[in-house]
Formats: sequence, structure tokens, C-alpha cells
Amino acid sequence: MDDRLFRNAMGKFATGVTVITTAVNKEAHGMTANAFMSVSLSPKLVVISIGEKAKMNEYIKESGKFAVSFLSEEQKEMSMIFAGQIKEKRNVNFKWMDELPVIDGALVNLTCNVHNSHVEGDHTLYIGEVTDISLNDGNPLSFFEGQYKNIS
Ligand code: FAD
Ligand code: NAD
Repeated sequence: MDDRLFRNAMGKFATGVTVITTAVNKEAHGMTANAFMSVSLSPKLVVISIGEKAKMNEYIKESGKFAVSFLSEEQKEMSMIFAGQIKEKRNVNFKWMDELPVIDGALVNLTCNVHNSHVEGDHTLYIGEVTDISLNDGNPLSFFEGQYKNIS
């Protein structure tokens, strides 16, 4: 099957946009991701899916933990920075939660310990056990048909 057909089809599943973050030796790393899902209430588990070429894989393997920030509609620039869609290096002031960097002002910040991981095809699924949550009001940044959208 053609890759473009698969991506065009998957792109019709509207999602929010997250930034996955972790820290190695107190140095922050971020990556934009829309492959996020809530998995279990007891225990509280979520899943993210990271492509094999992403540097984030090595960072999460080393730190054993990660955070997920759900971006608001005002934070499209954050998504573009952490997807490499803005080429020049930007200084991002992270908020720190449980020794993990998170995106300040996001709708939600979750911190997680890696509970399990599964290599599936060209991605690794990381199951995270949620250790802390912070919530903010606002509207979500969305992604549909390969484009950022505001739903408000
Ligand atoms: P890098 O290339 O090292 O980092 C990515 C970018 O973030 C770089 O430009 C870097 O300069 C910047 N950056 C990192 N840390 C910092 C910091 N501390 N301060 C300032 N800037 C920093 N890929 C997936 O594998 N899974 C997904 O679910 C997924 N969903 C996506 C959803 C959307 C809407 C988009 C646009 C992309 C998605 N991607 C996804 C692709 C992924 O975001 C990119 O391939 C990304 O560039 C891979 O990052 P990396 O880990 O290789 O890190
Ligand atoms: P796109 O048309 O590539 O993305 C549409 C949808 O296809 C995405 O929402 C995702 O569900 C799926 N998809 C895209 N690339 C994938 C991959 N490598 N593995 C699994 N599913 C994938 O949209 P775009 O604007 O061209 O995306 C920007 C960049 O971000 C591209 O390089 C794309 O590959 C990458 N991206 C990767 C993932 C992912 O790895 N899960 C998700 C979204 C975007």
C-alpha cells in the first residue's frame, strides 16, 4: 500500500497536539507528537508512539520518564519548534514538574514513569504510568489533514 494513502487516511482522524519532553542530565528535550492515548484508569496509564529515527527515543530510554503537554490554540509555535518546522534554535522556558521539563501554559501537563515499551514496526510505544497532573483552562490546538486547526 502507498504511504501517502495511509497518511492521508490517518490525517482524517482529528487529534490534539502534544509536546513530549524529557531530561537527561537536567538538559531538556522536546518533540511534537499527536500519537497519544489514554490507556487505563487503574493504574493510570497513557501511551505515546515515537518514530525510530527520533532522538527522543534515546532520551526516554536513558531517563526512564517523560512528560506530555497538551497544547492550547495559542501554542502553535511550540508545536512548530518541537517538530523542527521552525529551523532556527529557539530558547524555550520550560516549567519543571517532578524533575521533568513541561510546556508552561499548556492545557494539561502529565508526568510519567516508563511502565513498559513495545517496538512495533518503525515506532516504539511507550506506556507511561502517570505520576502528576496539572490542568489549565483554554481551547486545544488541533491537527487534521496535515494542518493545524483551531476548533473555537
Ligand atoms: P529533535 O530533532 O532533536 O528535536 C525536534 C525539534 O525540537 C528541533 O527543531 C529542536 O531544535 C527542538 N528542540 C528540542 N529540544 C529543545 C529545547 N530544549 N529547546 C528548544 N528547542 C528544542 N513523530 C513521532 O514519532 N510520533 C508522533 O506522534 C508525531 N506526531 C507529530 C504530530 C505533528 C502535528 C507533527 C507536526 C509532527 C509529529 N511527529 C511525530 C514528528 C516529530 O515531531 C518530528 O519528527 C521531530 O522533529 C522529531 O524530533 P526528534 O526527537 O528527532 O528531536
Ligand atoms: P501527514 O500527512 O504526514 O500526517 C497525517 C497523519 O498520518 C498523522 O496525523 C499520523 O496519524 C500519520 N502519520 C504521518 N507520518 C507518520 C509516520 N511516520 N508513522 C505513523 N503515522 C504517521 O502530515 P504532515 O503535516 O506531513 O506531518 C508532518 C511531519 O510529521 C511528517 O514528517 C510526518 O511523518 C510527521 N508525523 C509523524 C507522526 C508519527 O510518527 N506518528 C505523526 C504525525 C506527523
